[in-house]
Amino acid sequence: MALIIDGKAIANNVKAEVKEGSEALVARFGEEARPNMTLVLVGSDPVSKRLVELKTKDCEAAGITPTVISLSETTSEEKLLRLIDRLNNDADVRSILCQLPVPEHISTKKLLAAIAPEKDVDGFSARIDSDDYDIAACTPAAVMRMLKEAGVDVEGKHCVVVGRSNIVGKPMAIQLLLNNATVTVCHSKTVGLAEHTRRADVLIVAAGRARLITADMVKEGAVVIDVGMNYIEGHPVGDVDYDSVEPKASMITPVPGGVGPMTRAYLLVNALKLAERAARGNQ
Ligand code: NAD
Repeated sequence: MALIIDGKAIANNVKAEVKEGSEALVARFGEEARPNMTLVLVGSDPVSKRLVELKTKDCEAAGITPTVISLSETTSEEKLLRLIDRLNNDADVRSILCQLPVPEHISTKKLLAAIAPEKDVDGFSARIDSDDYDIAACTPAAVMRMLKEAGVDVEGKHCVVVGRSNIVGKPMAIQLLLNNATVTVCHSKTVGLAEHTRRADVLIVAAGRARLITADMVKEGAVVIDVGMNYIEGHPVGDVDYDSVEPKASMITPVPGGVGPMTRAYLLVNALKLAERAARGNQ
């Protein structure tokens, strides 16, 4: 039986820490320094809508003022980029989030590049060539915190990351390297995926393929972190076949209730850091 790493419980602690930080910032610099987050939603995808609702609630619980801007599915790329530019230049806006995915006619790459790094609450523009991870990509930061809370020190361990996206897989690999792990990154063109995953002391899966990782692909006693979030008949399902893998793992994260709530909590951490930076800059 694996120890279940409870993302929800850890996320509640993180939220409480951020709330304390937000109130301390206000106490020191006044109400205008309160962290805020502008959430941009394009279209009416129900999962995206729900995520924006949850993120809004999280903000409120952590002393962060949320503002939601909802745009229609047909909003042009040009119009969206103009809005981002306006938010970048609005001194009252401390952080910006654009809920992904955006409709296909909008370039995600262009959109993410348009958000000013000093307002990028997702941490997607965090530099990966240095260990200055003040503002980190939320999901990798969340995973590192979960490992720490579970007492897993990755130093010297073989960590295998499945997925190489710019927002999860790559920054995850960098965070692990910065913490002295030996890292293998697998992706859609990897030959013999199971041979790699079976050698993992810590296996982190972010492929977006429901139940891709089965028990035969996992080493006995491995720590398994499931970042995946897929929907089957409306139900959230991870990238790990939980029922078969759980008895073999020493620790595992559930879906839902694992990395998801922790990623959202780390948005709040970044929102607070960006507001702190802005307040210090305005001194
Ligand atoms: P993405 O589609 O941008 O990247 C997926 C990566 O997985 C790619 O690098 C691809 O090469 C690799 N891949 C795909 N199929 C594979 C296979 N069969 N074998 C090996 N590698 C394969 O996705 P993303 O944005 O990195 O997200 C990955 C998953 O994590 C998605 O399910 C997403 O919903 C989820 N996600 C969850 C959270 C959270 O908070 N829980 C946050 C971000 C992303």
